[in-house]
Order: sequence, then structure tokens, then C-alpha cells
Amino acid sequence: MRISRITVWQKTLPLAKPYWLSGGRLKFEALDSTFVRIDTDEDASGWGEGCPWGQSYLPAFGGGVRAALELLAPVLIGRDPRDIEVLNRAMDLALPGHPYAKAPLDMALWDLLGQASGLPLHGLLGGAEGESVAVNSSISTGSPEEMVALVEAARAEGYRTHSAKIGGSDPDLDIARIEAIEAARLPEEQVTYDVNRAWTPALAIEVMNAVAARGWFEQPCETLEQCAQVRRRTRQPLMLDECLHGFQDHLEAWRARACEGVKVKPNRLGGLTKARRVRDLGVSLGWRLHIEDVGGTVLADTAALHLALSTPAEHRLASWLCHPHLAEDAAPGQGARNDRGLAVLPKAPGIGVVPDPDWLGAAHATYERPAP
Ligand code: MG
Repeated sequence: MRISRITVWQKTLPLAKPYWLSGGRLKFEALDSTFVRIDTDEDASGWGEGCPWGQSYLPAFGGGVRAALELLAPVLIGRDPRDIEVLNRAMDLALPGHPYAKAPLDMALWDLLGQASGLPLHGLLGGAEGESVAVNSSISTGSPEEMVALVEAARAEGYRTHSAKIGGSDPDLDIARIEAIEAARLPEEQVTYDVNRAWTPALAIEVMNAVAARGWFEQPCETLEQCAQVRRRTRQPLMLDECLHGFQDHLEAWRARACEGVKVKPNRLGGLTKARRVRDLGVSLGWRLHIEDVGGTVLADTAALHLALSTPAEHRLASWLCHPHLAEDAAPGQGARNDRGLAVLPKAPGIGVVPDPDWLGAAHATYERPAP
């Protein structure tokens, strides 16, 4: 089997309503997503998506994905798509870094490997642990009352694990947000307070030591070193997210005893291949994991949740889905969907999601095998 063509689409994904992160420092109204289809000489095609949320979230952006694909797609043309590790090394040799731009190609390679082997992605990544993945809500930053109302609305949709976005320069307001949510939390519910790196270490230590919150805090400060300092002077379990870009960062986090868990996001890490290594490291270290993608449609969500389903249940907290926050649906009726706080993965070979061609529209670019 050889790769004969790679087609690229750009889609702007409007959010159903504006989304605030990091204590209101970051506002998002639409996401820039890139889709790839890898065609082969054996009539099989694999799909991938790269959506680094919004351009102010990570050192990654949609235009960067498409610019990098100009360099990366020709590296893959003519190669066997099933040689996934070989092709990842070839991409890393051709363009060091830029993990977020390699992720959609890597996703499409896994989709093709699944189809070639007749296995769903979770079967290739280790086998299903259970029947479904727990899904967590995502609660946008707001006043304490607004955030409690969002938790109650999420509860009505079946969510029992919540990720509440906090973090600002006013410690009293953050303490009020946390205490309001804790007071409204049901005994069986779990809340992670995601700061999205908005706090200084001093502010993090002040707020976390002032509240009686039982749950996790996530990425309180900008850097790994700052988060490790917070971890040493607080008692709540800590989850790290934005400061981890590669395998080495996870080793540093372990050496610094900076966290008890990490977010495993294929787009941030460079694809499913590299996310799987981090997942396996996290299982070995005894971490708890949130496995989900940075952003995107049901295609990216479903690919990431296949990795979640193949992870030992005691190591996964929950997985977030981006697509319910979007105003449009790329593949109606397909993929991992929230059903009362749980998502069931497709059993079809590969990822099991094919975007609607009418919704995708005209291609942004096409890369083909040069004539012999
Ligand atoms: Mg986070």
C-alpha cells in the first residue's frame, strides 16, 4: 500500500457561544481547523484533523498547520502508510518541532492502519478497557452564580465530572467561584479547577490553601518549574496541561514531582503515536490522565477517545469533547457522542468517522505523487 495523494481542507468552526478561559484573559468565538485525507493506491483513505483550539491558547495556530503541511505532505507521498513510526521519524527529520502540524497526518495514518487491519483504533492502541469513556463538562469562566448555573446545566445533560475554568488576578473572586461550586457539588461529582496558567505561584498558593476544595487543580502557572513550586506548598492533586509539549517534558514533570496527573492531547503532543507513548509513561508512573484532543470536530474527539478507551480505567479521570461546543457538525450521527456523561466508541475499522464532503466544501490544497 502506498500513499498517492494528500488533500487538505480549512474550516472555521464557530463556537455555539463565546468561551472564556484563564479568568477571562482569553476569549474564543471560532476555531481554525485543518482536515487531511490521505489516499492510497489501494482504494483506502484515512482522515485526520488538526485544531489547536484558538491561536492564543498554545504556541500553535491553524495557519501554521497548513504551512507545515506544504513541507510534510511530500515526505509521505509514495510511502507505505502502515509504517507509522518510520513516517513519524521522517516527518521529524524533515521539520523538527511543530508537533501540532504533524498530528493530523499521524491521525490519518492510524485511520488507514485500522482499515488495513480491520480493527477499530482502540484495538490497535491496546484494546478496549470497558464499554465507554466517561465524559467531562467544560465550565466557562464567569461569576460564581453563572458558573454554578453552568454546572447544573451540565448535570442535567448527565455529566458528573466537571472542568471549571478559573484564574484571574483577584484571589477573592477565584475563592468565591471555587466555594460556590463546591457548595453546589453533589457527593458523586468531581470538579477540576483549570487555571490555564493564569496565576503566579504566590497567587496559586494563596488561593489553593484558602479553599477546602477536594478535587484537582490544573495548570495553575505558566511553567513546569512554577507549577512544581505550587505543588510543594499545597495539598490538592495537580494536573498539568499546557506546559507539556513532548515526552521529555513529562520526564521533567516526574523528576520535579510536579503533578499527579496530566492531560494527554494528541494535537499538542504531535499525534496519536506520541500521545500513546505519554499515555504509557503515565500509566507506568501511576498518574491519572485526561485523554482528549485540544479542539476540533467529532473526528478529532473520536480519535483521542479511542486512546482513552484503551487506557486502564483506574488511570483515566474523564475525557472532554469539543464538538458539542460547536455550532456545526462535521459528521452527523458519527463518532463518540455524549450520552448521559458517557461516550461509546465506533467499532468500525480505523477511527470510524468520515467528514461530510458537502460540509467540507472546496479543498485548500492537494499534494500528489510526482509522475515517475
Ligand atoms: Mg486545561
